[in-house]
Amino acid sequence: MSDSKLYDLIIVGGGPAGLTAAIYAMRAALDTVLIEKGVHGGQIANTDSVENYPGFETITGFELCQKLSDHVKSYGIEMHQKEVIAIEPGIDFHSVRLDDGQTLSARSVILASGGTPRKLAVPGEDKFYGKGVSYCATCDGFFYRGKTVVVVGGGDTAMEEALFLAKITQKVYLTHRRDAFRASRILQQRVKAECKIEVLWNTVVTEIKADDKGVNAVTLQDTKTSEKRELAIDGVFVFIGFVPDNKLVPSGVDMNAQGYVITDEKCETRIPGLFVIGDLRQKYARQIVIAAGDGCTAALAAAHYVEMKKASDACTLSE
Ligand code: NAP
Repeated sequence: MSDSKLYDLIIVGGGPAGLTAAIYAMRAALDTVLIEKGVHGGQIANTDSVENYPGFETITGFELCQKLSDHVKSYGIEMHQKEVIAIEPGIDFHSVRLDDGQTLSARSVILASGGTPRKLAVPGEDKFYGKGVSYCATCDGFFYRGKTVVVVGGGDTAMEEALFLAKITQKVYLTHRRDAFRASRILQQRVKAECKIEVLWNTVVTEIKADDKGVNAVTLQDTKTSEKRELAIDGVFVFIGFVPDNKLVPSGVDMNAQGYVITDEKCETRIPGLFVIGDLRQKYARQIVIAAGDGCTAALAAAHYVEMKKASDACTLSE
């Protein structure tokens, strides 16, 4: 990796979107570098079981990440585990600044930074994170063998993670702020059939409490009557959605009110040669297969963009 080199493409983010973009970019013979600050796989690395990625009836998130990552590596791509601190668009090329002081340049950039789990924002949540508060059942469920936990949320993630925790723990309270789940019907049916899960409808967690051993209770509030009560539990698992990680999105790129980036059908932003894919992009549904689809689209579009750019640069030089 060198500051003076001009790459064809820099991919920022190594989740399913970024990794798929890398596969297509390498196959299109783009001189590509992939930058990821953590482990490959993004959010799915924390998903217990994936049952809707075509070709796999069931696969763990970790295994799927591993397969995607191995597939990318088979093309001999340049990869770096570094943090990107800024993307600076330009006319001739775009610059990507890294936390170690280096700046990389490329004719095109694909941003696939995804997002992070939404927080409850109640007292005790930050303080007891890692001491009884978790956003990942696959990572932390093991610590609650034979214990009692509360899961917060009514979407697909909450259902899947509650089902996973029911296999390990003694009891799962599933709290949801309304009287109907948002999750897909098949997951709702499985939750209802699982005797270890007790659903607490119209209920929110307003405080997380702990003693010197860690979390030991939550305060629950009924959203209809406002009545409060305390529930003794050993852990709190929060699955209430997603916040897009848009801090690297440069000014001049359109975003919607929720902070998702608006692109055209090629996943290209208003800045030519800057593409945004995966969970950070505004779209109808957020699924692994769609993130992968975005990666394919953007890499093919980037390949076309780079080819045109090189041709026009060659014309300018020969004039
Ligand atoms: P989601 O679908 O946005 O659901 C978030 C849930 O949390 C909703 O039930 C919401 O309640 C609740 N919620 C939001 N803010 C809250 C707050 N402050 N306090 C209490 N509850 C709150 O998020 P997700 O479940 O993480 O799923 C995200 C996307 O990934 C979805 O498109 C989902 O289909 C997809 N996904 C798919 C799979 C799969 O197919 N295998 C697995 C996981 C996720 P309301 O319903 O009242 O708004």
